Order: sequence, then C-alpha cells, then structure tokens
Amino acid sequence: MALAFDEYGRPFIILKEQEQKTRLRGIEAQKANISAGKAVARILRTSLGPKGMDKMLQSPDGDVTITNDGATILEQMDVDNQIAKLMVELSRSQDYEIGDGTTGVVVMAGALLEQAERLLERGIHPIRIAEGYEMASRIAVEHLEHIAQKFDFGPTNIEPLVQTCMTTLSSKMQIAIHMLVSTENVNRCKRPLAEISVKAVLSVADLERKDVNLDLIKVEGKVGGKLEDTELVYGITVDKDMSHPQMPKKIEDAKIAILTCPFEPPKPKTKHKVDIDTVEKFQTLRQQEQKYFDDMVQKCKDVGATLVICQWGFDDEANHLLMHRNLPAVRWVGGVELELIAIATGLYFAANNACNLINGLIIIMFIGGRIVPRFQELTPEKLGRVCFAPFLVYVMLLRNAGLVREKSFGTTKDKMLYIEHCANSRAVTIFIRGGSLASYWTSFGARLEPKMASFVFDDALGNKMMIEETKRSIHDALCVARNLIRNNSIVYGGGSAEISCSIAVEAAADKYPGVEQYAIRAFADALDSVSIALAENSGLQPIETLSAVKSQQIKENNPHFGIDCNDVGTNDMREQNVFETLIGKQQQILLATQVVKMILKIDDVISPSDY
Ligand code: ADP
Repeated sequence: MALAFDEYGRPFIILKEQEQKTRLRGIEAQKANISAGKAVARILRTSLGPKGMDKMLQSPDGDVTITNDGATILEQMDVDNQIAKLMVELSRSQDYEIGDGTTGVVVMAGALLEQAERLLERGIHPIRIAEGYEMASRIAVEHLEHIAQKFDFGPTNIEPLVQTCMTTLSSKMQIAIHMLVSTENVNRCKRPLAEISVKAVLSVADLERKDVNLDLIKVEGKVGGKLEDTELVYGITVDKDMSHPQMPKKIEDAKIAILTCPFEPPKPKTKHKVDIDTVEKFQTLRQQEQKYFDDMVQKCKDVGATLVICQWGFDDEANHLLMHRNLPAVRWVGGVELELIAIATGLYFAANNACNLINGLIIIMFIGGRIVPRFQELTPEKLGRVCFAPFLVYVMLLRNAGLVREKSFGTTKDKMLYIEHCANSRAVTIFIRGGSLASYWTSFGARLEPKMASFVFDDALGNKMMIEETKRSIHDALCVARNLIRNNSIVYGGGSAEISCSIAVEAAADKYPGVEQYAIRAFADALDSVSIALAENSGLQPIETLSAVKSQQIKENNPHFGIDCNDVGTNDMREQNVFETLIGKQQQILLATQVVKMILKIDDVISPSDY
C-alpha cells in the first residue's frame, strides 16, 4: 500500500493488486481450478438433451443469441478465468473434430472434476487420480467399440443417415422448433431438414475415400417464409440480383466471366488535372470512356461470356450499356461467393472440357477456388484468350454453369441469384427460410410476459435468431452425417452408451490393486452424470430413472436402454432411433479426460504479478 498525491495535491491510496491476492499452491490451487471448471459445466448442464434449456446471450454491442449449442454458448461467454477458458477450448475442440456433442463433453468434464474433488478430499494424490482416469477412459473407449454397431447406408439407402441427423436436430434448434407450435409440426420439419443435410453431404462426399469436404456446403439463410421452405440448391445462391431489371432472369448453359477487377474505365490512382474548357473536349472524353467500356463489353462477348459476375460495381451508364449489349451482369458479389462460384463452375471444365486446352489449363490451376494467386502464375499467352485486359482484369475466367436464375421472394425487392447444376461441380447450398412468427404469436405470444416478448421476439431480431440457430443445428447435422461416412459405426444415445460404459468401467475397477481403482470407480460415476442430466432436464427423477435403466441394462444384458426424455414410452433407444456416432462419443470421453488430467496436474497458479 502506498500514499500518493494527484496533480492538485489531493492524497490517494495505491493498493498493489498482488497484496490483495494470495497465490494458490498445491491442493488449494487444484480445488480452485476444479471449481472454475465445474462452474462452466454447470452452465451447460441444463442445456443437454432434447429437453435442454436455451441460453440467451447478449453481446456487448447488444446482439442477442438464443441457443442451446454448447460450443456457441461458451464461445459467446466472456470468460476470464484461465481454467474456464480451457473448458471453452474443450468444447471448441469437440466442435472442430466432430461438430456435435459439444455440450456433452463439457458436462462429462464437469462430472469428472466433481468426482476428482471428492477423491482429493479423501487424500488421494492428483497424479493417481489422473492415472486412474486415463485407465478408465481407455476401458470406456474400448467398450464403446464393443457395443457399437455398423450402419449400412448408400446413396440409395439414406435412411440410417437421416435417422442419425434427426437425433442431432431433435436436441437442437429449440427456438425454431417451438415456433412450429405442435409436435406434429416439429416432426414434419425435422425429417426434411435431416434429409436435406444428408443429401447435401452425400452430394459432396467422396464415398470411395470416405471423405467429405464440408467447405463445399454453404449454409445460407434469408428471413421470411417458413422453416418448411428450406431447400437444397444444387449449386450456389448469391444474395444479389441482376444489375438491371430488364436483364434476363434465367440464363441456361451460362458462361460466366468472374471478375475481381473493376468493370469500368480505369480511374487514375493519383491526382491529375484534366482541363476541359470546351463542350467538344468534354464530349471527346466521354466518348473515349464509353468506347473503353464498350471494348470491355465486346471482349467479354468475344470470349463467349453470357454472364458477368463482378466483385466491383459499375455506374448506371455502364449498366445501361450492358443491358443494351445484351450482356447480363451481377455486381458487388463478395469474394467468398466468387470463390465458391469459381469452384462450382471450375470443376466442370476440368472434367468435361479437357479438350478445350486453354480453359482446361486454367481450370486445372484453379481447382480449389484459389483464383487470384494461381492466375498470376499463368503466362500471358495462356491468359490471352480469356483475359481481355491484363492490367485491368485481375481475374477473368469463363466458366460454365447449367442454369443461372434470379428468384424473387414475396416482395419484388427481395431477390436471390441461383447458380445451379454446374455439371460435375459438387458445391451445394442449404438455403434456410423461416422466421415467420405469426403462428408462434397466435399460440404462445399471449403467454409471454409482454416486455420479454417484445425484446426476444422483436420481429427482425427473432427472425434473425431463428435463422442463426437453424444454421448452427444444420452444421451439427452435417457434421454427424460426415462422421458416419468416415466411420459408419454408431452407438445408441439418450445416455445408454454412457451407462453401459459406466457398468463396464465399474466392473473393471476391482481388477486394479492400486489406489487408482478409486479413480476408476469415480470415472464410472462421472459417466452416469450424462444420463442424470438428461433425466433432470426432462423433468424426471434423476436417481430413480438412472438406477432403473442401469438395472434393466444389466438384467437384460442390453446396452440400448437409455433415458426416455421425450416420454415415448420405451427406454430402448434402438426403438426410438436415437443414435450417435461412435467416433463422436469416443472423442467426448477422450477429450474430457485429457482436459481434466491437465487441470489436475496444475498445482501452482502463477500470474505476472507474482514474479
Ligand atoms: P450436444 O451439444 O452434446 O450434442 P445436445 O443438447 O445435442 O448436446 O444433447 C445430446 C444428448 O441428447 C445426447 O446424449 C443424445 O443421446 C441425447 N438425445 C438426443 N435426442 C434424444 C432423444 N430423443 N431421447 C433421448 N436422448 C436424446
């Protein structure tokens, strides 16, 4: 503590921060870290499962997100504590590797920490706990292999994939689903969305190599319409329209020139003064500019372009000229879209137009959508036919697309461009519609507290939130379908796999003579916490439900019994069609164990002020 004076001579006290803090060491450090981790897990626990609660998160700039996706909740929380940040990373890793199970992994880690705390209090050394957990996780992962089943599917038999995606969707997008009011509506919507996700994944999948490039699937949304109107577009949608209303709305077998350069006469970069003192001079300048643009248009036509898609804008005069010269154009298209268009239409040439040497060469160099750097590597002769003004045109390439059409939604102002059937191109778009709150309001609006209702379901806000949450749910469904293509083994959900692992781990614990067996047993208890959370969130008696299901599993030697969250009337998750991917479940257990081991091994928390 020190006494200091400000510039007016007024005294004030400086408290050094480190004097306030006590540096945590040993068991105290471990306990403090465990409670930080547990605090994060506690937040997510209520969001687990089909009856999980949503969280409403407000960002510093006032944006509101309503979600029950673990990764999103943690991503948006302003977490300060380093251990809490580790839990955020844990969820992120699960999202990155698997794409689903982000809530479950944190709940599992929280339960492991809780059990570890009890063991620490009993005097067991953290290293022994960590080792016990490691052994137990190996037992659990092996047991999962044992109870897993192979799922046979193919392009003609997509039902198993659809069912798995439906399991994922059923615990997601609660706000979207609640707006559909009745259970009948919910199910009516879940299936088409699952089917769309599966079809999207299959159309970009390489089934021979068992690989799926999810980057080829674009998930777009536009507020309006109904969730049921969500569609799969075999191509790309661009939130733009033709630059002139009189340009054709539909172009078949389009040859697209993709420009990332200005499509207008060049503007001097440095300041120049042009003295125009007569009408003639002005007209000459104007004519020259017009001619310049006219030449550009002509060159586009000469190379055979039937549509120009440009990253930059062009003025009304140029627009009029384009319309007049019958060259449809789209302006202000974002870089990401341009790249996707390039990928979508580029692959077509590689596969189908190899005889066209120049285009073929260019396309081969552009596969993967790396438009700019690759193009610069091309020699002028190669560019010659397609690059009509190298100093102006950064990238210009002729591409083929089956059909380009402009689609209007509701009002004439709301338009989108669909670039479809790009022959062999595998890029697809899931185009989400929804947000019409009318039905929601009729049934539920009256039940909400008016202030809350106006905040959450302020029309624009509510609509946007619903589209965003649907996007996140579809992302999870896509990941699940991808995981099944990579490895078609599944385990049953609803906590059944965890309960079965818990029984196996518990049974294995006795075989270990050391102190580790306590940790192994604790691990088995932690595995039960997933089912307890599912039961709690569904309004069931957690302990009673768990013990009943567990004894049923042991009695009937059947690992498919889980928590009947939706009150279907059977605990058999196989009958309920509740599946999860084997790799997803294994990853959850492995990641949660690794993070908990890491936390347990920290025995001193040193911050910069402690040096
Ligand atoms: P995560 O982000 O971890 O995927 P979710 O909120 O999606 O979390 O919940 C997933 C859990 O809910 C899994 O354990 C899954 O088996 C379970 N689950 C999903 N649908 C059902 C269902 N219809 N009945 C019982 N459990 C379900």
